[in-house]
Amino acid sequence: MSGAERLSRSQATALAELLRVAPVADRLGEVFSDAGFRLYLVGGSVRDALRGELGHDLDFTTDARPDDIERLLRTVTPTVWTIGKEFGTVGGRVDESPGRAEAAGGELVSWLIEITTFRSDAYASDSRKPLVQFGDTLEGDLVRRDFTVNAMAVELPGKRFVDPYGGLVHLAEGWLDTPGTPEQSFSDDPLRMMRAARFTSQLMFRPAPRVIQAMTAMADRIEIVSAERVRDELSKLLLTARPRPGLGLLVATGLADRVLPELPALRLERDEHHRHKDVYEHSLTVLEQAIDLEERLPDQPDLVMRLAALLHDIGKPATRRFEPGGKVSFHHHDVVGAKLAKKRLKALRFSAGEVDAVAKLIELHLRFHGYGGGQWTDAAVRRYVRDAGDQLARLHVLTRADCTTRNERKAARLRRTYDELELRIEALAEQEELSALRPDLDGTQIMAILGIGPGREVGEAYRFLLEKRIEEGPLGPERAEAELRSWWASREP
Ligand code: ATP
Ligand code: MG
Repeated sequence: MSGAERLSRSQATALAELLRVAPVADRLGEVFSDAGFRLYLVGGSVRDALRGELGHDLDFTTDARPDDIERLLRTVTPTVWTIGKEFGTVGGRVDESPGRAEAAGGELVSWLIEITTFRSDAYASDSRKPLVQFGDTLEGDLVRRDFTVNAMAVELPGKRFVDPYGGLVHLAEGWLDTPGTPEQSFSDDPLRMMRAARFTSQLMFRPAPRVIQAMTAMADRIEIVSAERVRDELSKLLLTARPRPGLGLLVATGLADRVLPELPALRLERDEHHRHKDVYEHSLTVLEQAIDLEERLPDQPDLVMRLAALLHDIGKPATRRFEPGGKVSFHHHDVVGAKLAKKRLKALRFSAGEVDAVAKLIELHLRFHGYGGGQWTDAAVRRYVRDAGDQLARLHVLTRADCTTRNERKAARLRRTYDELELRIEALAEQEELSALRPDLDGTQIMAILGIGPGREVGEAYRFLLEKRIEEGPLGPERAEAELRSWWASREP
């Protein structure tokens, strides 16, 4: 028995064991085989099961056509969805108690099932979406999958392991390669080049040299892929535990020049202290440091946080000036960067909420550096909180992460100063409900006091009182009324 065969045997046993925790796979296998069809667990599910990380998504492929899939799946679960049916996919959810009590403490597990008819996709070279063609063989389906590690299948209910392209050995060796030639594969669907970068990070695999070569030669082909598909893969890459190698691959192959040109553009830059430190390297490190600090945020992983960390300095190339005396400056790179990020993220079809949040974080990422030794007035602290709004927690993380100095004393000083700022925010917040900063009088009260109806003046009065409130803290109703009256009296008619 060869090493690969031995490996294959022991892995197949491990897989059978793993599948025991998902009895639904066996049940589906029986239902399909009783109806005269073949069913396989396939793709990412097999890959992750072999890595000991079977998630709750189970992908299957079958020779049954979508109508039969739907009919059979309905015999197993009432929760079935058919949005993908014209592309050959029927989805469903199955809630069950796991096969082994220890697997989830006896709790119900929700499996998200996707069953797809064998594909033999064809792509027109200028099309943005694959044309769907159904196929009749498993091998034909597998060869069209993106990478060998995603092109393995397990027949059900028998659990025969099918691996025509050596995915198992590649999985063991941490190797990312295509089942056919990468040129053919990437020209069928250029998005696979982005997926190569994503899996490089997600699985910590090395891409085969021929994959890197094909990505480099074919980078411009990514332009036929829709922005939404590119966005989704870029997001998945950013959401991995270690985005650096995948981003590095995008930059090295020239793909980043097409999908996120602001990132490779950072490579020429030096930092604001005129050291020959690459802003590109700095940005990747800030991203990693932000990921390490993410536990301070309510949700992890946090896409907005990661986009902001990666892009926080993209205003630098456009604002770099060589000052007399050899200094380099990047005036307003925060504002310029926020604009560039907005433009890029919109083009990539990120949601308006995501775009605005990232832009706000980039625009505010330098504000803290005016804090110095902690001489901010209460008003400045209030302004910081007000301007950050619902992004305050992320701004704390971004600002802390944006320190990549090797000088540990300096880094420690910055951390301490930021600790102090957060404490001051907390103390002020305790006194004043900072999170919902409002003037001491509301619109109705303003109108009653001034004896005016709704209109532009009410807004002006409101903003005047809010400014006062930020400058001086809570005024109380009496002083607020007096301030309002004297402001009104001193106004130009
Ligand atoms: P994840 O679920 O973490 O995103 P995955 O590998 O399951 O990873 P999916 O996008 O769910 O990825 O796709 C499921 C499977 O379908 C993949 O494992 C792969 O076999 C195949 N696949 C998905 N997208 C493509 C593509 N663009 N080209 C070829 N095969 C693909
Ligand atoms: Mg999947």
